[in-house]
Amino acid sequence: GACIGILGGGQLGRMLSVAASRLGLRTHVYDPGANPPAGHVAERVTTADWEDEAALRAFAASVDVITYEFENIPTATLDLLESLRPVRPNRRALAISQDRLTEKDFLTGLGLTTAPYRDVPDRAALAAALAEHGAPAILKTRRLGYDGKGQARIMAPGQAEAALAEMGGADAIFEGFVRFTHEVSVIAARGLNGEVSCYDPGENVHEDGILRTTTVPARLAPGQHMDAVLLAGKILNALDYVGVMGVELFVTPKGLVVNEIAPRVHNSGHWTQAGCAVDQFEQHIRAVAGWPLGNGQRYADVVMENLIGDDVDRVPALSREADTQIHLYGKGAARPGRKMGHVNRVSRG
Ligand code: ATP
Ligand code: MG
Ligand code: MG
Repeated sequence: GACIGILGGGQLGRMLSVAASRLGLRTHVYDPGANPPAGHVAERVTTADWEDEAALRAFAASVDVITYEFENIPTATLDLLESLRPVRPNRRALAISQDRLTEKDFLTGLGLTTAPYRDVPDRAALAAALAEHGAPAILKTRRLGYDGKGQARIMAPGQAEAALAEMGGADAIFEGFVRFTHEVSVIAARGLNGEVSCYDPGENVHEDGILRTTTVPARLAPGQHMDAVLLAGKILNALDYVGVMGVELFVTPKGLVVNEIAPRVHNSGHWTQAGCAVDQFEQHIRAVAGWPLGNGQRYADVVMENLIGDDVDRVPALSREADTQIHLYGKGAARPGRKMGHVNRVSRG
């Protein structure tokens, strides 16, 4: 059978491996970490560095197609892999989402609404952005941020200096504060032949910058629901995308504002495991392997709750709940902020 190469062996890579295996496909996970969660289920795992050319060549030679579960793959690594095997989703999707500035330029270029933003190459640019937009605002590193890391809120102009210091010298972007009523995301997929399938938007609640719960159905008027799905399709088509993407949105009285896109399966799409015949992991594998997409239709109401840090101590109690699907990632120590697993609580829609 065909073999899927997966860059990154965290929980997303693990659940992709499970999905591939269910389809009779093999997986080879590449992750420089010591004991990647996906390594327990993949047929093969390579734990060499991203710079290890011999290991990367051997990896590529062993697979038919390469995909990834995180955005921050070094450029040189991709250059090499791309010359050896198809990489899906494509390079442009990855490059755009690796940099919040490029990402916002791309999104606004499509006619979509984002938070007002400014490039902040230096202190003067921050002062100018603040003078123009005022506080509150958020300063974010352009690259490498996740789970709210690499961000600083500016509640008053006097906090600009401290926010800049938190960027640690990294290139930053200024974002005006969006006054949203709630946050939703669309998990969307596009196949090799260009077909698009979107799951119902989920409503997301964050705590300390980390996703806490996703609830479907989300609170959205029918028009907003349609806007969300259409804009996700627009993004995928513009990128000639193949695979699953997470599109994070702010819901405001004036309409939907795009927060960010993730060119991969997404934490806010875990509910699909309990709500749909074909979940986001199978959907992604189908897409990158060139299979027809599954149906994104939702058959149940679901609340997904992340088990973060000590939350994992609740598993014995959770295991006694009748309609709760439990997913544990096989990670070692439960450190604060570490995603250890999640549960999907299902009820009839
Ligand atoms: P993820 O783990 O989703 O990749 P991240 O570190 O990339 O997160 P963002 O999604 O940019 O961070 O921001 C995290 C959260 O902070 C958002 O979900 C939202 O709650 C809040 N936030 C971010 N940007 C803004 C903004 N411009 N206005 C208001 N709230 C914001
Ligand atoms: Mg992000
Ligand atoms: Mg986010």
